[in-house]
Amino acid sequence: MKPVFLDRDGVISIFTPNDYLKKWDEFQFLPGAITGLQKLTNAGFDIVIVSNQAGVSKGLFSEQDLNDITEKMLAELKKHAINIHRVYYCIHTSEDNCNCRKPKTGMIEQFISEHGAFERDKTFFVGDSDIDIELGAKTGMKTILVLSGKTKSAEETESWNYRPDFVVKNLKEAADVIVSYSKGENRGKEN
Ligand SMILES: [Mg+2]
Ligand SMILES: [Zn+2]
Repeated sequence: MKPVFLDRDGVISIFTPNDYLKKWDEFQFLPGAITGLQKLTNAGFDIVIVSNQAGVSKGLFSEQDLNDITEKMLAELKKHAINIHRVYYCIHTSEDNCNCRKPKTGMIEQFISEHGAFERDKTFFVGDSDIDIELGAKTGMKTILVLSGKTKSAEETESWNYRPDFVVKNLKEAADVIVSYSKGENRGKEN
């Protein structure tokens, strides 16, 4: 098992401020996402998506709409020879008090219960917001912030409680970091 954990919105698909991707026709892949996912697939990683989708609990779209988006996204990626190993969603709001809403660790714990332990200190979590970096750091992983979504600059991270190990432009660059790291090329180059 060689997992890599990715957030969805702002990493793979577009980030929509103050809104959600509610239907497949609103879904768009970000520049560099397909290339990055291909690179990770070709390097033998098990790609795992970990995404908060509170719009379901808020009634803005249904769980069926969410599943429809997922199926079509996976089918589209398959056309590019990309295999996504597993997709985890938290559909709750913070008021629901679940244990899966990022930055809580429930989705990673679920992954471990289904797949067994993995070498956390050699595993990456890629996200576009502070909660992704917090979750990755709290679960002992290396973290990469992409500036293709919610966070627009590295300076924004200066006030965060958990700082990313790497800051890059998009998923393509994140994949470059991850693949070089797995070859032992950029160890110790973390921020
Ligand atoms: Mg995001
Ligand atoms: Zn949840």
